Amino acid sequence: MRDLKGQTVVIRDVVRRYGTYEAVSNVSFDIRAGEFMSILGSSGSGKTTLLMMIAGFETPSSGRMLIGERDITHLAPNRREVGMVFQKYALFPHMTVAQNLAFPLKMRGVPTTEIAARVADMLALVQLTGFEKRMPNQLSGGQQQRVAVARALIFEPPVLLMDEPLGALDKKLRESMQFEIKRLQERLGVTVIYVTHDQEEALTMSDRVAVMERGQLVQIGAPSELYLAPKTAFVADFIGKMNFLDGDYMGAEADGAVVALSELNRIVAPAGLNGLNGSVAQGDRVRIAIRPERLRLAPKGQGGSSALAAKVETAIFVGSYHVFIVAIDGHGGAPIQVQLPANSASLPFRNGDSVDLILDREALKLFPAKEM
Ligand code: ADP
Ligand code: MG
Repeated sequence: MRDLKGQTVVIRDVVRRYGTYEAVSNVSFDIRAGEFMSILGSSGSGKTTLLMMIAGFETPSSGRMLIGERDITHLAPNRREVGMVFQKYALFPHMTVAQNLAFPLKMRGVPTTEIAARVADMLALVQLTGFEKRMPNQLSGGQQQRVAVARALIFEPPVLLMDEPLGALDKKLRESMQFEIKRLQERLGVTVIYVTHDQEEALTMSDRVAVMERGQLVQIGAPSELYLAPKTAFVADFIGKMNFLDGDYMGAEADGAVVALSELNRIVAPAGLNGLNGSVAQGDRVRIAIRPERLRLAPKGQGGSSALAAKVETAIFVGSYHVFIVAIDGHGGAPIQVQLPANSASLPFRNGDSVDLILDREALKLFPAKEM
């Protein structure tokens, strides 16, 4: 199989309305040639609609799209040269594996002798050599999806679009298929746009992730960027596990922004926090966000002056780490998750213990409360 020359995809001010409802609102971004880009969002956020517009099965209400130098906004789907894989295995049920793979080549008038060689190459690539004569219903779910990927790639498209392609598979198989697809994409150099609602899947597979919320693109960035520097509370909450502490913004002091959780508890966060951007005033409700792995516990009274008094509600051993669910004294908010490495062998904390909760100040993010 020849290498695929991945191409850039440009999406500019793309809108899709159904009546007065905007399924996709003014979305713009560029995908680099050979990049693995995921579109991540919860159900109904507009992911499929966006992908279908790139494929040509939906028409934008406004905006334009380019693949390489070509404006494809009004091009027929079969002239866009994009491969597609859907969640439901869209294999032709009455055709063998080999016939399914040959189909896109026949449509393009590729000579029969060449077709046989390319089908064999492609089957080898997805590790299904010997399955030529099987019918789709004689394959497992994972095998069917590998055939679907092979069929989408066999005509060597510069861009491959995938819509929740592993959604129907169980967790173990899904994880090994994620790895296979990623390896194939790197090997071939094809540009991939991959739709998923599974943040873990998006983080593990992608060069960059575009997060969608209610039709809007809310943040786009490398997985580590989204995890470490979420721009909104929504992204902070959607990517990975996040704790939120609600409080009143008391204004800036010499050593940072002061948030009162209750009469008892104040948190001083470093100044210049992202999230706030001067958009809150003294007295406004705000949310402090902090990851479970940026919290620590100490025996009561030993956590230093900025620690918060708390009580352990639940202690869970997860395998590679421990999770402690703690409630902050005098704060009615949701319980806080603390994640500690499993190798801290003699963790002295048990259900019901009074403890000090230590926040890594540098890891705090502040967001306006109204946004969520
Ligand atoms: P996702 O793939 O992120 O789950 P979709 O793109 O399928 O979301 O849908 C986004 C929104 O647009 C949903 O609220 C959905 O109901 C609506 N929608 C999608 N297709 C149509 C359609 N053909 N007519 C009306 N509304 C639609
Ligand atoms: Mg969808």
